[in-house]
Amino acid sequence: MNNCLFCKIIDNQIPSEKLYEDEDIIAFKDIDPQAPHHFLVIPKQHIATINDAKDATLLGKLITKAAELSKKMGFDKNGYRLIMNCNSDGGQVVYHIHLHCLAGRKLNWPPG
Ligand code: 5GP
Ligand code: ZN
Repeated sequence: MNNCLFCKIIDNQIPSEKLYEDEDIIAFKDIDPQAPHHFLVIPKQHIATINDAKDATLLGKLITKAAELSKKMGFDKNGYRLIMNCNSDGGQVVYHIHLHCLAGRKLNWPPG
């Protein structure tokens, strides 16, 4: 078994505030929110970076679920930002792909 933090969250070895779960993906609140709303959507399959991702349907599911949850939580109208960081220059810290969803304040552009 690998030593991946997000695989442990999927397996409930590490607790998280889950917002959604099905057979392919889970969504949960980020432990260190960078906006009033900040959650992550991840595949259950361990994929280290977006460079390693081949399954377009699974990737699409991450995005459509982030949008669906954003609507459900009511910040779709004001807006939100979806981000996936890749490797060191992209700011990736956890090497199990995750789509960030940030909302609830005006977000800076361009990002730092
Ligand atoms: P990255 O920089 O890899 O794109 O983002 C990793 C994200 O995972 C960060 O926003 C960080 O706050 C979040 N994170 C790291 N450890 C944990 C944890 O144990 N639980 C939760 N819910 N989020 C975490
Ligand atoms: Zn993993």
